[in-house]
Amino acid sequence: MKLKTILLFGAPGCGKGTQGKALGTLPGYFHCSCGEVFRSLRLDSDLGHVFVRYSSQGQLVPDEPTVQLWREFIQNSQRAGRYEPASDQLLLDGIPRNVRQAELLRDTLDVRAIVHLTSPDPGRFVERLQRRALRENRLDDAKLEVICDRLATYERETRPVLEFYGLEVLHTVDATQTPIRVLQDILAILVTL
Ligand code: ADP
Repeated sequence: MKLKTILLFGAPGCGKGTQGKALGTLPGYFHCSCGEVFRSLRLDSDLGHVFVRYSSQGQLVPDEPTVQLWREFIQNSQRAGRYEPASDQLLLDGIPRNVRQAELLRDTLDVRAIVHLTSPDPGRFVERLQRRALRENRLDDAKLEVICDRLATYERETRPVLEFYGLEVLHTVDATQTPIRVLQDILAILVTL
């Protein structure tokens, strides 16, 4: 059985994580942030090393270990009773992050909607990322150079995922609104699904 999935999509700093956390508190929705799964790794593990090496340069971790780690996280969440695929919608944030990952997950995910959080100028997310880096002590967003690399990686590798799934599932939300307005717009989409 494929997993009923909604993708939260958008450039770094667009507010996917904030919205995903809020939506994940609703009954029937399970939020999974791939970035958080990586950050929960032990830094002295093999994959922890790989994660630090790539993320500190604003780059994506290679696809196979990423998808493998994600599958383990989902299986553990099921075993622990936090995620019930038969009844829950999976709210995915940060994966698939390129077309190759979308292909690897083709038989696993039934993508029913993509919520694309957009801004006419993703540069305006930079300040948010820098504030978060200070607050959460994040290596990847501490330097302006790395933020720019992350935004470039998004444009080059992640944006094409939208074409992979096609326009029928695409919904666009203005990410420059206040968080509560963004949430309101996303909920209006989710209730129609
Ligand atoms: P957040 O959404 O909290 O900003 P990210 O999703 O940007 O966190 O993840 C931080 C880093 O983790 C990324 O820059 C990348 O190196 C790695 N990462 C997260 N998800 C993936 C993925 N699906 N594929 C490859 N690398 C990933």
